[in-house]
Amino acid sequence: MIVTRFAPSPSGRLHLGHAYSAAIGHARARETGGKFRLRIEDLDQTRCKPEFVDGIFEDLRWLGLDWDESVLMQSKRTAAYEAALDELKARGLAYACFCTRADIAQSLTAPHGDAATSYPGTCRNLPDNPRRRATTPHCWRLNSARALELTELPTWTEADGKDFSAKASGIGDAILARKDAPASYHLSCVVDDAASGVTTVVRGVDLRPSTPIQRLLQQLLGLPEPTYLHHPLVTHMDGRRLAKRDLAPTVAAMRDSGVDGPVLVQDLLTDHLPSGFRLQEA
Ligand code: GLU
Repeated sequence: MIVTRFAPSPSGRLHLGHAYSAAIGHARARETGGKFRLRIEDLDQTRCKPEFVDGIFEDLRWLGLDWDESVLMQSKRTAAYEAALDELKARGLAYACFCTRADIAQSLTAPHGDAATSYPGTCRNLPDNPRRRATTPHCWRLNSARALELTELPTWTEADGKDFSAKASGIGDAILARKDAPASYHLSCVVDDAASGVTTVVRGVDLRPSTPIQRLLQQLLGLPEPTYLHHPLVTHMDGRRLAKRDLAPTVAAMRDSGVDGPVLVQDLLTDHLPSGFRLQEA
């Protein structure tokens, strides 16, 4: 049975890009008698607000995108993330990192890529120091070199049948747990996708670079391998990404302007976007 999920962060109102992603995930599940699960990614307590959680429910209902079973709230899942992190720690695959952003920027001679792949490894081989950990803010990182001694470079298949292979250069010492949150996006994502029985991860193509590290974590933790459907992004006609500062059209604003939710979903599923917007592959 196909199980898809929509996993928004409640740090703002949903916009047209979210509606597109949710519409695809919902259709994939409903076409085959599968399930569509909703997960609220609310671990970042500084950016997430309860009113945006309510906004997500309201917007999905208006779009006619009903979800199955209970909503998974990441803020209630700390114990599951800690268990996964403990397992990685016990196998010597996680280390405490005390670097600040400024430390990392300074020690990289040629910064490139994102923080996951460009961490210079300063704390990787420090002896464990529980006293320092008790008194100094730190995150936990994956020891990716050790991980790749234990398991192969991951591969995955996309829903259109294309196969992908991770490159070692795309896998770094990713953060597993943050200074201020019990789990990083990557760790919480793989733990929750597995717990919800997700078979098809539907999300924007901008998140494809996250897939190598997430597949690696699945291999290390013995979690099932989903299929990935990385869909094109909704952008403005000039290619600009939808973002709050861009006055992205929120689902709520479209409702207020008299748009019909289920009709909008049908249009999105047939790649008919409202005027002023288009789909972009990468
Ligand atoms: N919470 C992420 C976002 O809103 C989605 C992550 C995912 O689908 O894997 O962009």
